[in-house]
Amino acid sequence: MPFHRPSVGEAEIAEVVDTLRSGWLTMGPKTQRFEEKFAAYVGTRHAVAVNSCTAALHLLFEALGLGPGDEVITTPYTFTATVASVLYTGATPVLVDTLAGYPNIDPEAVAARVSERTKAIVPVHFAGVPCDLDRLGEIAAGCGASLIEDAAHALPARYKGRMIGGIGAATAFSFYAGKNMTTGEGGMITTDDSALADALKIRRLHGISRDAWKRYTAEGSWYYEVEALGFKYNMTDINAALGLHQLDRLAEFQRRRLEIVALYDECLASVPGIIRPETPPDVESAWHLYVVRLDSERLRVTRNEVIEYLKADNIGTSVHFIPVPLHPLYQQRLGCRPEDFPNAVALYEQSISLPLFPDMTDDDVRSVCRSLGRIATENRR
Ligand SMILES: *Cc1c(COP(=O)(O)O)cnc(C)c1O
Repeated sequence: MPFHRPSVGEAEIAEVVDTLRSGWLTMGPKTQRFEEKFAAYVGTRHAVAVNSCTAALHLLFEALGLGPGDEVITTPYTFTATVASVLYTGATPVLVDTLAGYPNIDPEAVAARVSERTKAIVPVHFAGVPCDLDRLGEIAAGCGASLIEDAAHALPARYKGRMIGGIGAATAFSFYAGKNMTTGEGGMITTDDSALADALKIRRLHGISRDAWKRYTAEGSWYYEVEALGFKYNMTDINAALGLHQLDRLAEFQRRRLEIVALYDECLASVPGIIRPETPPDVESAWHLYVVRLDSERLRVTRNEVIEYLKADNIGTSVHFIPVPLHPLYQQRLGCRPEDFPNAVALYEQSISLPLFPDMTDDDVRSVCRSLGRIATENRR
């Protein structure tokens, strides 16, 4: 069993074929429809489609005007893209640890690191579980920083009843093939800030101003002006064709994810030394990942050994994440040391992400649990 397999239906395939036959392959009418539909789905005024979540984060930091001397506070328990996208601008990522035994950023550790240089605070909703956005929003407002959410895992998720995507100053989503919905590769930025949305739209396509194009249409449709240093980060209509139908199916995907999670919770409840994931009462997780932790007091196998045993049973797993301070690049560039992030490193050493995707059957889930149950029982202390 693979760790993940995307669910691509006939509607997605037909829409892609329609796009290929339409004569319009790059960003065009389908991207615009996808943006409108996505904005309505999360309940924001604007949605700006791009070619990855990495591009979404970089564009946001560019549009906010970040550069050398500015600081962005984020978590070590994330994918490299969250931190790399800050470095692209010349600004400095400032990492603060997660809570103890819990994969989201510690808001009080954020509060302790803010300074007049802090321009953005970037929580990552790990596995789809929203961070403490009330407290983080308060800290951001207190120092004049923007709250930018890395919601690559958090579609669809809710914080105190509110959809993720409409809470912070802006939110970045991923449609990578492994995420809860996919466009192959792709990303989306949501925001209620119209000026920010305009700055993002200009920068995602070479810094070309549409307004100048409108103003000068008298000169002919060939005319444009470059008004900012932009990038080539636009989505294509081929990707948007997939996105339109994946978004239609997201509620059905989520219903199935919840069933799979409930079955994992039930089947793993009696397995010795396996700590199941927990969600606080005031949030609804997107359940992007089902991450179990191994209790080393009760098991005499390492995380890596368990992964190998599961692999021998043909079960694909993954590890989220190798903390940022463990990577050589960040040790060199940020001078960060793993021992300064004991909570994130401890989580990493205990964690295994089990297969979780809508097309899994109940029998698939039970066979993962049987295998993990056998490994744990044979290796209990
Ligand atoms: C996947 C992921 C990203 C990057 O998304 P891409 O669309 O692949 O660029 C960023 N942050 C987190 C937490 C992720 O899991």
